[in-house]
Amino acid sequence: MVERLRDHYGIKNEAVLEAMRSVPRHFFVTEALRGRAYDDNALPINFNQTISQPFIVARMTELLEIDKQSRVLEIGAGSGYQTAILSRLASQVYAIERIGELAREAQGRIRDLGIYNATVKAFDGTLGWSAHGPYDAILVAAGGPRIPDPLVAQLKVGGRLVIPIGQTRDSQNLVRVIKTEKGPKTEDHGSCQFVPLIGQHGWEKN
Ligand code: SAH
Repeated sequence: MVERLRDHYGIKNEAVLEAMRSVPRHFFVTEALRGRAYDDNALPINFNQTISQPFIVARMTELLEIDKQSRVLEIGAGSGYQTAILSRLASQVYAIERIGELAREAQGRIRDLGIYNATVKAFDGTLGWSAHGPYDAILVAAGGPRIPDPLVAQLKVGGRLVIPIGQTRDSQNLVRVIKTEKGPKTEDHGSCQFVPLIGQHGWEKN
């Protein structure tokens, strides 16, 4: 999997590749899917959600440009796989998942792997988590209609926000927002497909 990320997808950041090497992806999927855990695609988890394709996990992580000093906020923890990857690279990871049972399971897996610098809580992540901010980096693993204002507000100057943004619920472009002294600067990193971001600054639940 890691060779494919480097040679086929052009992921260059060695620390990111090492994190992808060290976190067992099979630990985050159901028993029946264990054999496919290192394939090149997203996989279903409970409650109609998905664990993202390894490439997209690596790409988003690379775009965050985090290091051992970074405080990171993650929205859409799902299985907890991306949370585990971030925890290997950052100082502290605060993860939010709107589905309570997924949040509890994700936190359990993280603890079982002996990771103590990541916390998963259940609430609407489009509001951010101001108590632990401001953040060096924010990753949103679900696709929203626009950039949630609270997330930009909770970013440090110089901080990075990576989020899929789309005009419809089922297709997006990967957007990176860099907060500068003069305001947010936005970059487009190509098309992608995520489950919808549902919440006050996301899509309505239906
Ligand atoms: N990074 C995850 C991918 C999870 S899919 C992994 O590695 O497994 C996206 C997740 O975002 C889903 O679990 C969904 O429930 C969650 N989500 C959607 N809207 C959200 C919101 N407003 N706040 C927090 N989580 C949200």
